[in-house]
Amino acid sequence: MKRVQEVDVAILGGGPAGTSLALTLCLYSNLTVAVIEKTKYETARVGENVSASLLPLLDYLQVKESFLADGHKPVYNSSALWGNAFLNSRPSLFSQFGEGYLLDRRQFDRMLAEGVSHRGGILFLQTKCQEGELLEGGGWRLFLSHASGEPFSLDSHYLVDATGRQSRAAKRLGAKSIVCDSLVGITAFLSFDATYRPQPEEILVESVPEGWWYSAYLPDGTLSVAFMTDIDIMRQQQLHKASSWSRLLSKTNQTYQRTRGGTRIGLLAVKPAHSHILDRAVGDNWMAVGDAATAFDPLSSMGIGYAMTSGSHAAVALNEYLTRHDRALLDQYQNGLERHFETYLKLRHLHYDLERRWLDAPFWQRRTANSVVLR
Ligand SMILES: Cc1cc2nc3c(=O)[nH]c(=O)nc-3n(C[C@H](O)[C@H](O)[C@H](O)COP(=O)(O)OP(=O)(O)OC[C@H]3O[C@@H](n4cnc5c(N)ncnc54)[C@H](O)[C@@H]3O)c2cc1C
Repeated sequence: MKRVQEVDVAILGGGPAGTSLALTLCLYSNLTVAVIEKTKYETARVGENVSASLLPLLDYLQVKESFLADGHKPVYNSSALWGNAFLNSRPSLFSQFGEGYLLDRRQFDRMLAEGVSHRGGILFLQTKCQEGELLEGGGWRLFLSHASGEPFSLDSHYLVDATGRQSRAAKRLGAKSIVCDSLVGITAFLSFDATYRPQPEEILVESVPEGWWYSAYLPDGTLSVAFMTDIDIMRQQQLHKASSWSRLLSKTNQTYQRTRGGTRIGLLAVKPAHSHILDRAVGDNWMAVGDAATAFDPLSSMGIGYAMTSGSHAAVALNEYLTRHDRALLDQYQNGLERHFETYLKLRHLHYDLERRWLDAPFWQRRTANSVVLR
């Protein structure tokens, strides 16, 4: 088997967390980095609403100019039907950071990955890690395969799991995911005739007894519509099937109005959206970042921004560890994840507790109960 080369840090997963970690190391350390990403960013990705508070981080990662040139759509308003039947709006004018953005998510993730290779990182796209073995004296040998090429191996001193909510590598290395719920997002993308009507720069959230709806117009004019519910409710009501999903949608107040006249592009996509934290995100010569380490309910707006920040903080800690053998920042990273997760659970409870119209419905019962069940 061909051995490509040796790097200090191999990162599995080229989402926002993995590429932010890689960019930070490329820009602010002498460590060598490889990112192994199983796609070439060709398929639709979910999660697109980010706050303008992300801009300073993009600046730090030296990709702010590329980001601003990429035509992501500003979002000027967030509206919600939550807790009562009235539409409550929060204009971004009153936000500390100003308007946020609705991302072309594929382009955003691709732009960060290209940033890594421009800064000297190695990027393996369409590449999967089949297996890894611990080398004598420390370090890893990863056995990789490219979609169209022969298998090859890569040696690295340190391994980072940035594979998203499934935490594939960390779980194989013995970490356990402490899961708080079974939330899933069932998403459709709808296209409209360009002359059909204006597409407000606004996100809309609407609660219903079975869960809640999220919708937003993306930069290319398609409408992203996601229904968030628990997996058992999805299965019982067959909400992963277009007919049942559409039937539930038709009972909404505002969300249905937005979707009228739209044509669904492709199939419904079902994605896990549960809250979880790993029992340990730092092990011997490995760590997990982003959703792989800890992931939040999309209601919290702690997705992409938190993943990137956690990747960047992890890079600083890793540099200290690999160059000065100082674990203090790695320990701080682990403690920080636990602290943030505890605070997040309290906030999550507060948000869901604002909706008290369906306290006998399982989705809301599970979220408004006083204690959180960790599984
Ligand atoms: C329905 C839904 C809606 C959401 N909406 C929002 C939103 O509006 N705003 C927001 O900020 N957040 C949102 N989120 C959350 C947000 O998408 C995530 O928090 C964010 O993408 C986490 O980034 P990450 O890099 O940790 O993981 P991911 O973005 O999941 O990236 C993981 C990467 O690893 C790759 N990968 C996986 N396995 C392997 C492997 N074995 N080998 C190589 N590569 C691998 C994947 O292809 C992917 O590129 C939403 C999530 C869901 C489910």
